[in-house]
Amino acid sequence: MTKEQAIKCDKILKQQSEIHKQNPKIVRVTCECGKRPDIRYAFRCYYCGVYFCKVCAGKHFGDSQEKQEMRSIFNPANMADGIKR
Ligand SMILES: [Zn+2]
Ligand SMILES: [Zn+2]
Repeated sequence: MTKEQAIKCDKILKQQSEIHKQNPKIVRVTCECGKRPDIRYAFRCYYCGVYFCKVCAGKHFGDSQEKQEMRSIFNPANMADGIKR
């Protein structure tokens, strides 16, 4: 595991424990920028497993082609898969 991957895993673990501590009806997740979007409106990277707010998701995926990919991956049905209730 590279250092970068280890940092990603740490983020995922933090977000996961954050999610599980909350009332399942109102779940907020902390983005790397410090914003806490409602998880229903957060974007989860399919590859990293990390949740982002809309702005950071855009940055994370970059422009044009990758954004198109983001739209197809991040529909609400797919996002719900990451949450065990
Ligand atoms: Zn953000
Ligand atoms: Zn990613």
